[in-house]
Amino acid sequence: MASVIVVGARGRMGTLLCRAFDEADDFELVGGYDAQDVGELDQEAPTADLLVDFSSPKALPHVLAYVDRTGSALLSGTTGLDQDQLASIRERGERSRVIWSGNYSLGVAVLRHATRMAVEALPGWDVEIVECHHGGKADAPSGTAKMLLAEVDPEGTADVAYGREGIVGPRPKGQVGMHSLRGGTVAGTHEVHFFGDDEEVCLTHRATSRQIFVNGAVAAARKLLGSKPGSYDFDDLMFS
Ligand code: NAP
Repeated sequence: MASVIVVGARGRMGTLLCRAFDEADDFELVGGYDAQDVGELDQEAPTADLLVDFSSPKALPHVLAYVDRTGSALLSGTTGLDQDQLASIRERGERSRVIWSGNYSLGVAVLRHATRMAVEALPGWDVEIVECHHGGKADAPSGTAKMLLAEVDPEGTADVAYGREGIVGPRPKGQVGMHSLRGGTVAGTHEVHFFGDDEEVCLTHRATSRQIFVNGAVAAARKLLGSKPGSYDFDDLMFS
């Protein structure tokens, strides 16, 4: 039985995660933290085998302090983290087991693989990434859209157009479009469009509930706890 605490416990994701860990036979939920009590992670929070963080980048200093203090494993799905913050999570892999993923859905993992394959098979085609989420989402583009961009532009050198406005002129060759739609209760849709001469390929993943992320996160948590200390990504744990 692995003990687990959840940060962001009363949020949309946190509520589902707490329920899933509570109902699982092999996990024991021993705590949940939110904005007002996250400081307790620094000193008072009980030791658990695993900390699961689906909250806000502002929680990260407390999350890392907890991992440093207790040596717990860390599974983070918080999006909107900058490169330095992501590096600080990876550094903890020297002593603990850590994973960060911007999307814990198996279907999205397949979309990433399919995107990479299409990029290789369709050189010179124009690529546009479109993501759509509920109106309450804080960050844009989504963490998943950034992961898809990394499949399209692994070197990070492409001219990325984050939306377009005004007299933008002809589309520059090699540009990648990135567009964020917000509204209603959409759980998350991601499309990668490939435009060639007289043809288009569009790869789509549509989430109809947040439960897909919960299922993937719980499956990844089991694999993480069975792994050696290190910094993992979702593919490392689920596909190898
Ligand atoms: P949400 O409903 O707004 O919930 C956010 C939760 O985080 C709340 O419990 C909130 O507590 C807490 N929180 C906010 N600031 C905090 C802080 N400084 N310290 C500690 N806790 C804090 O958001 P959500 O839809 O559940 O999403 C949460 C995160 O997960 C976002 O970053 C989202 O993009 C990400 N996400 C990731 C995946 C994935 O697969 N990786 C999937 C879905 C969502 P209060 O209520 O006290 O403010």
